[in-house]
Amino acid sequence: MSDIDAADIVIVGGGPAGMLAGLLFARAGISTLVLEKHGDFLRDFRGDTVHPSTMEVLDQLGMLERFLQRPHTRLHEARGTIAGQEVVIGDLSHLKVAAPFIAIMPQWDFLDFLRDEATAFPRFRLELNAGVTRLLDDGQRITGVELGDGRTIKARKLVIAADGRGSIVRRDGWLAVTEIGSAIDVFWFRVPKAEDGGDALRGIVAPGTLLVLIDRGDYWQCGYVFRKGMGAQLQAGGIAALRARIEAVAPILGPLDTVLTDMDQMHLLTVKIDRLDCWHRPGLLAIGDAAHAMSPVGGIGINLAIQDAVAAANVLAVALRRSANVDHMLGKVEARRGLPTRLTQRAQQVAQDRIIGAVLSPGSSFNRPPWPVRLLGRFPLLRRIPGRMIGLGFRREIVRSPLAP
Ligand SMILES: Cc1cc2nc3c(=O)[nH]c(=O)nc-3n(C[C@H](O)[C@H](O)[C@H](O)COP(=O)(O)OP(=O)(O)OC[C@H]3O[C@@H](n4cnc5c(N)ncnc54)[C@H](O)[C@@H]3O)c2cc1C
Repeated sequence: MSDIDAADIVIVGGGPAGMLAGLLFARAGISTLVLEKHGDFLRDFRGDTVHPSTMEVLDQLGMLERFLQRPHTRLHEARGTIAGQEVVIGDLSHLKVAAPFIAIMPQWDFLDFLRDEATAFPRFRLELNAGVTRLLDDGQRITGVELGDGRTIKARKLVIAADGRGSIVRRDGWLAVTEIGSAIDVFWFRVPKAEDGGDALRGIVAPGTLLVLIDRGDYWQCGYVFRKGMGAQLQAGGIAALRARIEAVAPILGPLDTVLTDMDQMHLLTVKIDRLDCWHRPGLLAIGDAAHAMSPVGGIGINLAIQDAVAAANVLAVALRRSANVDHMLGKVEARRGLPTRLTQRAQQVAQDRIIGAVLSPGSSFNRPPWPVRLLGRFPLLRRIPGRMIGLGFRREIVRSPLAP
């Protein structure tokens, strides 16, 4: 059936989950093909945070030094501005890891890095402009994929869906999804830098407003967070009203009257949290956002995707080298990653509903940070607890999949 050379593993999607899974399986000597629908990794709405848990993985693979040679900025603390006061929410500098900080690096650079590292393994292949439109099956198992141009590719052992929250496994009903919901959406926009300075990533919280700023060199990537369902109302209110709110809380952006002139500059990003009821079926495994869509809260979705890829390779790589069929082992990947996923999504939900929701609710008013944040201000040692949660997450995976001789 194959129009493109078959591979033992065909991975749909070249995001963090798909690229790292491709690298790890190829490193273990298994022929692996990653299919990415876009022609490059350049996409504005990707996250920019690489956390210590991900850099631990790179360290275990002997790649950390090369990663840190790429342009990035380092955050040793998670900081923000709440009601006009500078606050530190988490301290990562005490983590006992190779890189005790968050590296802020545009995700396209991180994916380029993974591609460069993966191509060192001869069994790795990446096809760009290769959008998968259909999974193929023989009535019992998933056996391959079909691309938009009609070409087909046989997966001799496994198809991994790493194609994000709009995954084909959801769209075509191969695996059922349960919505968990989300209380927020985001307007995503750019502002050229008026001045240098400030942190590489900062959150600004004021009554009725939550703004996130990411330093991307010559411009700020900004996320204006609002209550789900308010998008149309904000659109109708017009750019002048929105601009005034942003200027009031973020003087670092400078005057915006010639910069933000049209609502078309505000790209609506719908936030959702959900997960598959079961991450696999014969011949098919879903990982990353395809298995569990993450909210941007805490900037931890990329890292969860990375941990899924490590777990998948740990569980399956040796068996894949030995046997043609690993269907009976796919549940072990979900068993390993299900709990940290549920805990992380729960934490995101609580943050969205109780904290962000309260800040954004109509008539919200506060003139100082909430008491837990004030407590962190008085007792700096306590900042290590959120620092650990943000930096390492709930269950760390250690690379155990082999390096092929
Ligand atoms: C507004 C917003 C901001 C965020 N910010 C952060 C952040 O700062 N830090 C963080 O850790 N997380 C952040 N997240 C969450 C994070 O983006 C995801 O959790 C993470 O990208 C998941 O990685 P993934 O590899 O599973 O999927 P994705 O990153 O979604 O990658 C999927 C890939 O599959 C490709 N693809 C899709 N369909 C097909 C197809 N049919 N055929 C071939 N290829 C296909 C896509 O082009 C894409 O490259 C944010 C989320 C949102 C909504």
